[in-house]
Amino acid sequence: MSKVVKFGGSSLADASQFKKVYDIVMADRQRKYVVPSAPGKRFKDDIKVTDLLYKAYDAKSESEFQRTFEEIRQRYQDIIDGLGLQISLEEEFAIIEKNFEKQIGVDYAASRGEYLNGILLAHYLEFDFIDAKDVIFIDEYGNYDKKKTDSVLSQRLLESEYAVIPGFYGSLNDGSGQIKAFSRGGSDVTGSIVAKNGKVDLYENWTDVSGFLVADPRIVKEPAVIETITYKELRELSYMGASVLHENSVFPVRNEGIPINIKNTNKPEDPGTLIVESTCHKPAHVITGIAGTKGFATVMIEKDMMNSEIGFGRKVLQVFEDHHLSFEHMPSGIDTMTIIVNTEEFIDKEQDILAGIHRAVQPDSIILESDLALIAVVGRGMKASRGTAARIFNALAKRNINIKMIDQGSSELNIIIGVRNCYFNDAIKAIYNEFID
Ligand code: ASP
Repeated sequence: MSKVVKFGGSSLADASQFKKVYDIVMADRQRKYVVPSAPGKRFKDDIKVTDLLYKAYDAKSESEFQRTFEEIRQRYQDIIDGLGLQISLEEEFAIIEKNFEKQIGVDYAASRGEYLNGILLAHYLEFDFIDAKDVIFIDEYGNYDKKKTDSVLSQRLLESEYAVIPGFYGSLNDGSGQIKAFSRGGSDVTGSIVAKNGKVDLYENWTDVSGFLVADPRIVKEPAVIETITYKELRELSYMGASVLHENSVFPVRNEGIPINIKNTNKPEDPGTLIVESTCHKPAHVITGIAGTKGFATVMIEKDMMNSEIGFGRKVLQVFEDHHLSFEHMPSGIDTMTIIVNTEEFIDKEQDILAGIHRAVQPDSIILESDLALIAVVGRGMKASRGTAARIFNALAKRNINIKMIDQGSSELNIIIGVRNCYFNDAIKAIYNEFID
């Protein structure tokens, strides 16, 4: 058995966190490939090294650049001193400084956080260092080039029994050798690509929480941890705002059947959350998780005899498509059709869209409201149990919360309800208490 272990920024924020990482990696010789992020926040108002690098690269004056660059240098020096390592990054910093002066690219700048952390960690663990620029190839849009990466990386990993591969970046797939980064949080994606190409059995993603929580801890006090979740459930919850992993990080491992285990660097004994393709493990509760987002608008279109007008729906949706706006849901009645959209994306285009709908289908009226929050109640356990919807509605009714919209996906994996923004927190608490407490 072998594993890839990815450590997030908070797990490598300073020397004491590095020590924890060392203990975790050394405790299990199956942990063969280590993917580090750049040093993250050491305390609440601290600045991540990646953000300092962006700041230095965009510095408006030489003095601002020097100050910020020095701060970055000091972050690494503190780690070196704190661990008593016999290594100097001075030569690396000299090269980086020159490249910053030449303004060789913002992705290059951002990637140096992971690069330097990778060098330090490899030295500390006595693992090989593999520069991600030589083995991970990314297209101009920030997607990994599967073909090129998979052939180069899988070969390279065969040569190292134990190695550190920095997260977040690679090089452009056009052969120029230019550094290219994934979007923010992209070390999760690197971990997944390394797991796939190292043909490992498990991808451990170490962070500062003991797994994926059933609900947002800012809304529900100390929510339970999800023990096992499927990729599909995770996607539903992530789409609705729950975030632990970068959304592109599941695809490489998902297709290989490699599970991801979310673990807590500060509490390594906690089992964390296991993310799997499919499982016979009975979920602990009927629902796996609850997530939601505020800020949706509803466009309610009314027209007598709408039901008999063939093509009505298509014409309405065409208007949204013409304005490059995707819609979230589309509940309908006999003579009404409602389109639910993200308010922020909709607001600048609303009058054009209204005019477009009038032209396309001549409705009797169009009513706009922008006060909707959507909540997704997700769980593979719903399929096998009766009365889940009844329990949700009951819980909300008891709290006097009016439901404005209901949508159950045909997969029976989720029930989505819409409530007014002001009921958002209460609704999530009510559903949580109904199923989990
Ligand atoms: N350091 C990068 C960021 O802050 C990438 C990562 O941590 O995954 O977004």
